[in-house]
Amino acid sequence: MAEVLVYVDHVDGAVRKPTLELLTLARRIGEPVAVAVGGGAAGTAGVLAEHGAVRVLTAEAPEFADYLVVPKVDALQAAHDAVSPVAVLVPSSAEGKEIAARLAVRIGSGVITDAVDLEAGEQGPVATQSAFAASFTTRSRVSRGTPVITVKPNSAPVEAAPAAGAVEALAVSFSAQATGTKVLSRTPRESTGRPELTEAAIVVSGGRGVNGAENFAVIEALADSLGAAVGASRAAVDAGWYPHSSQVGQTGKSVSPQLYIASGISGAIQHRAGMQTSKTIVAINKDAEAPIFDLVDYGVVGDLFQVVPQLTEEVNARKG
Ligand SMILES: Cc1cc2nc3c(=O)[nH]c(=O)nc-3n(C[C@H](O)[C@H](O)[C@H](O)COP(=O)(O)OP(=O)(O)OC[C@H]3O[C@@H](n4cnc5c(N)ncnc54)[C@H](O)[C@@H]3O)c2cc1C
Repeated sequence: MAEVLVYVDHVDGAVRKPTLELLTLARRIGEPVAVAVGGGAAGTAGVLAEHGAVRVLTAEAPEFADYLVVPKVDALQAAHDAVSPVAVLVPSSAEGKEIAARLAVRIGSGVITDAVDLEAGEQGPVATQSAFAASFTTRSRVSRGTPVITVKPNSAPVEAAPAAGAVEALAVSFSAQATGTKVLSRTPRESTGRPELTEAAIVVSGGRGVNGAENFAVIEALADSLGAAVGASRAAVDAGWYPHSSQVGQTGKSVSPQLYIASGISGAIQHRAGMQTSKTIVAINKDAEAPIFDLVDYGVVGDLFQVVPQLTEEVNARKG
């Protein structure tokens, strides 16, 4: 059976959820072969095997941490050349998209970014994308070379599918460009204890209606009751109520969770662009005419300061 390369996003051997989702999609088009590089790469094999990787190609070298993305592209290209896969799947993070684009240029292939679904097709894998602020859904396939496809988080379920997961060392020779940009230092972001916004299964967002930085505690309490990440509209971010890194939308992060709860957000096209592919959308807004209600699955017309705390209380009560 044809093999599909899956680029593994991991932190010191801990595999991030979007990679496991890629394995689910990869199994639709062939046998997944995972490529894990950097410190702890070998430690990823167990969980990758549990989720369908028939082989795990690993490479550990200081270059992966000491320089920007080119060493990773070198490794993925080495894997591509060794395996001759039917497709290369990469998580749709900023880094993933850079790796995918560079690889596609090198191997003379087409690249599809931000796919939200993937299926086998007679002439190669067919990717679904959501375009123009999710006004259109497109289905496309790469017509030249090995398709390189980046897939948004939360586009597929994580499924157990035990496979051999045989670990093999991947020989990588680094290109001249690999050591061009050295990382001099790293400052880890202070953890909120909440899931990463772009990967979270549930996102609770607040907008101008939250009316102040201190009031975001109401949004955070609901998020914490659900184990969710916190997002914000640009209006809330620009007002200094929440960090820019939490902005959802055209000029912020793009999220595609199972559940998106928008509180005090009007639903401007630029906000929708970053959340419209969420599976279930709930909005709480005191204005029944707010445009956000045009795209919701469930809408509550009401004051968020009354509705959100009640919702939090109810969620907590049901958990107890
Ligand atoms: C080039 C460009 C890029 C942009 N990029 C982004 C982006 O990435 N992300 C983004 O979000 N925006 C972006 N914007 C801004 C966007 O156009 C809107 O201005 C912004 O999304 C509005 O944020 P908001 O919905 O929080 O505020 P508003 O539009 O002011 O809406 C606030 C809502 O809160 C409701 N409300 C008020 N009080 C309460 C209450 N107590 N209870 C319940 N509801 C209440 C109101 O009825 C209203 O609907 C961009 C704009 C431009 C021009």
